[in-house]
Amino acid sequence: MLFHSGEGLRGDTGRPVLYLDIDDTLLTWAAGYPAAARGAREFVVWALECFQIRWLSTWCPTGEMPDSLLHDLARMLDVDPARLRSIRSFDWDATESKLNGIAWLEHVVLNRPFLWVEDEYGVGDAERQFLASHGFLSAYRHCNVTKDADSLIRLHHTLLRSF
Ligand SMILES: [Mg+2]
Repeated sequence: MLFHSGEGLRGDTGRPVLYLDIDDTLLTWAAGYPAAARGAREFVVWALECFQIRWLSTWCPTGEMPDSLLHDLARMLDVDPARLRSIRSFDWDATESKLNGIAWLEHVVLNRPFLWVEDEYGVGDAERQFLASHGFLSAYRHCNVTKDADSLIRLHHTLLRSF
């Protein structure tokens, strides 16, 4: 389903939305297993204050992250699991484009601003073309901490100037 209504996510509409990938974005796979990227803890703690975070990751395809994964992620990021539990997403089809996990009605019709932090695997030509054709290309912020260990730190510094 491409057009989510944002149903069930009301009550937190004052902040921009941050669609946030996990693998290669918060977690580096440079050593062959997942580990917190440089600056990942600081980024998440900051983003929890500034944005309504929504996972856009195969870690959480049903809207709510399974408890075991949530604890794994919290341990790696060194963040209290209770803080991560407040993060929701949508029930989206993880076999198709991640565009399906974005609440387009909320952003296109209601003009709620959003960012999408994602590696290049989640945003290919089709996704770029869609974002560009709807005027949202600047909402996409590339990050791949497996290929470039400091990419999340640099992104954080850039975002700090605007948020
Ligand atoms: Mg990823």
